[in-house]
Amino acid sequence: MINITSTTAEQQELLKEGKLLPIMEHFYTIQGEGAYTGVATYFIRLGGCDVGCHWCDVKDSWDAEKHPLTLVEDIVEIATSQADIIVITGGEPLMWDLSYLTKKLHEKGARIHMETSGAYPMSGEIDWVCLSPKKTMLPKDDVCEAAHELKCIIFNQHDFKFAEEQAARVGKDCVLYLQTEWSKRDKNLPEIVEYVKENPKWRISLQTHKYLDIP
Ligand code: SF4
Repeated sequence: MINITSTTAEQQELLKEGKLLPIMEHFYTIQGEGAYTGVATYFIRLGGCDVGCHWCDVKDSWDAEKHPLTLVEDIVEIATSQADIIVITGGEPLMWDLSYLTKKLHEKGARIHMETSGAYPMSGEIDWVCLSPKKTMLPKDDVCEAAHELKCIIFNQHDFKFAEEQAARVGKDCVLYLQTEWSKRDKNLPEIVEYVKENPKWRISLQTHKYLDIP
């Protein structure tokens, strides 16, 4: 768990128990990427990430101190009143103990998805784990084992090799996706198309929310 300095002892205890979390933003939208593309989902974006991807498009999430500490019961009430599928993302959500959040979401009948780099050990009961591994902090073995979907970001040529290395670490039923880093899409997409034609165990994931101009 990240140490947030500007908290009371009581808040520290609640953070440790996963009953209080720094929430950067939460919103109802359409899942834009991966296996659940096009599906209405409620996103809960947790603050805090030290993975340090240089092309990260949510750098504001990195500093957990910047985001309001929120009681789990409150965010669960809001999220489950609007959608059946809840995506927990970040930041890096596994920097926090997700056990309490996922227990409360399941009690309300939600289906829980998570998007993670896998840089920290699994916590919580997650129905669909989307693992997007990063070279700067390799995923833990338990997250690789839990992954339902592997989404590898292609920024440069070496990322195809990295994607194959990560594919060798996930289970045989894990769905494999290649997704271009957004700013490189014009150059990378033709290469990804050719790669998937030659290596059909992979599928292409597009950031359709960016084409649709929705969050
Ligand atoms: S793991 Fe995700 S949130 Fe963290 S730096 Fe990388 S892209 Fe950004």
